[in-house]
Amino acid sequence: MPRFKQGPRCALDPAGPCRQDHCPGSQADCRFITRMDRNALYLTYDDGPNGDTTLRLLDLLDRENAHATFFVSGESMTTASDAAIIRATAAHHHTIGNHGLRHLPNVCPEFCTMARRLWEECSVATTLIRPPFGSRCAANNVLRTHRSAVGLGWSLAFSDWLPVDLDEAKAQAEAQVAPGTIVLLHDGVAPGSRYADRSQVLPLTQLLVRVARDQGLSLESIPSDLHRYGNR
Ligand SMILES: [Zn+2]
Ligand SMILES: [Zn+2]
Repeated sequence: MPRFKQGPRCALDPAGPCRQDHCPGSQADCRFITRMDRNALYLTYDDGPNGDTTLRLLDLLDRENAHATFFVSGESMTTASDAAIIRATAAHHHTIGNHGLRHLPNVCPEFCTMARRLWEECSVATTLIRPPFGSRCAANNVLRTHRSAVGLGWSLAFSDWLPVDLDEAKAQAEAQVAPGTIVLLHDGVAPGSRYADRSQVLPLTQLLVRVARDQGLSLESIPSDLHRYGNR
């Protein structure tokens, strides 16, 4: 396991110096991926951990022999049991991604501070970031200043922070799932969300597993050290 210390090195980028968090906005052409170049489907879950919902999701993924990526938020990581769920998620061979310490419009996500908390409280090292609201501005600043960081967007989403019609979601998934598709889902609840019931993530996951199997696709987690592997 690498050791990260406070000071010039940052847990988000073992290879380079931390130039601290701030969000000036940037047109930088950065490493931001919305699709993987592999023959698999990539389920990603944002805004957790979320107690029993996340734990039931881990059970479902285990039963289906599926792996996924969880972009956890500092807003949802407030107690020791939240950190324990993140450690359990990693222990089930899923990838943990960094969704920032803060999740508010026009507020810096503070990815570096979140990376340090993930390392210190969960023994998790990840260079994957997903900015709140998919904000490329917030991602670009971190990607410019951290050589190892990789930004993750998505290629399929269901607006599942609101109630989802599962028949419509099934039709959309059948039309849009392809090799390398990254799916945005939500097991957690961001601050200010009008709709807090995330139990629909279970049937949504189940139908995506079925669509993937029908296409001969395995369900894989995104490597937490994607910067070493590269992508197109
Ligand atoms: Zn940093
Ligand atoms: Zn989010």
